[in-house]
Amino acid sequence: MTGPSIAERVRQVPPSGIRRFFELAEEMDDVISLGVGEPDFTAPSRAREAAISSIEQGRTSYTANRGKRELRETIADHIGKWDLTYDPAEEILVTAGASEALDLTFRALVDPGDIVAVAQPSYVSYVPSAIFAGGTVRPVQTKAQDEFVLTPEVLEEADAGDADLLVLCYPNNPTGATMTEAELARVAAFAREHDLTVLSDEIYADLTYAGEHTSIASFEGMKERTVVYNGFSKAYAMTGLRLGYALGPSEVINAMNRVHQYTMLSAPTTPQYAAIEALQSCDASVEAMRSQYDHRRKFVLSRFSEMGIDCFEATGAFYVFPECPWDDAEAFAQALLEEQNVAMVPGTAFGDSGSGHLRVSYATGLEELRTAMNRLERFLE
Ligand code: PMP
Repeated sequence: MTGPSIAERVRQVPPSGIRRFFELAEEMDDVISLGVGEPDFTAPSRAREAAISSIEQGRTSYTANRGKRELRETIADHIGKWDLTYDPAEEILVTAGASEALDLTFRALVDPGDIVAVAQPSYVSYVPSAIFAGGTVRPVQTKAQDEFVLTPEVLEEADAGDADLLVLCYPNNPTGATMTEAELARVAAFAREHDLTVLSDEIYADLTYAGEHTSIASFEGMKERTVVYNGFSKAYAMTGLRLGYALGPSEVINAMNRVHQYTMLSAPTTPQYAAIEALQSCDASVEAMRSQYDHRRKFVLSRFSEMGIDCFEATGAFYVFPECPWDDAEAFAQALLEEQNVAMVPGTAFGDSGSGHLRVSYATGLEELRTAMNRLERFLE
């Protein structure tokens, strides 16, 4: 008996590079983790109360497959601030986190062998999800000298014009990079010229520190070829409630919903009540968190500069992506963890162009950040 055989497409995907690192950190005491990808804040109290009250009122059944109508309408209002107009009936799908929405898109759009271009360094789920769906991944390496902005030049270099899909994420995890309207316009032109479908992960859209977010779907001729992802995990600090959404052309959203209705049925009900409240009445909480992140971001960048660590001024999400003082970022991260109990993630976990860098999350209290920076300074000495 050889036991069940694991599918080739699953065996192809190695375990997450981040997870291995966390397992190491978990075994140690007194570790300050700058490795996390989730807010240290709790969800706004009004959102939590709405969730509790929905349970107390017995609202514990499935919702519509696409999500509660009121939530989709509220989302449609909310996204107006990014010049996005989507029909709640046909063009919005509420999912179990942005993660589910991304996975559904690959499953709905990718045929075996389709080419999925992924702008890297990238969030760790895109490549595995594309492979699980049978796609062939083509990494597009953005450059440190461009501050990790995606350009037509790097897209050309990677032959991304031949791809079927292009995945990008700005504000970016892991670099914290954002893209200006002019920079995005060039990528939009490339996508139109090469007839690419764009998957734009904008989950950090509310966390920008140098001007408003622009969505690539807001450019002429882009809405019809773009799927936008957002959710409640980051700006609303609701990671564990597992709620997100996708915006896209009705044919794509309908196809995604076909997969969703047989696999998830509907996104969890309780967080949908929290999400309605979050969008309708929690702007001040989001702004309070954003302004604390900004304060921490400036603090970390200034400490790096004092220590002589090179780091571009990342203006989004809650990450900075400094150059590693050693050639081998994995060895550096491991030694820093073992000697000073500070966890950072080596940039290679996010693709080749992340090599020589470290992802440092500032979703950690200022006091802890202060201690971590002092320990880093000691380590470098
Ligand atoms: N996209 C990016 C860029 C992320 O950083 C994360 C969370 N780490 C997700 C998607 C997944 O978010 P959710 O909790 O909504 O599934």
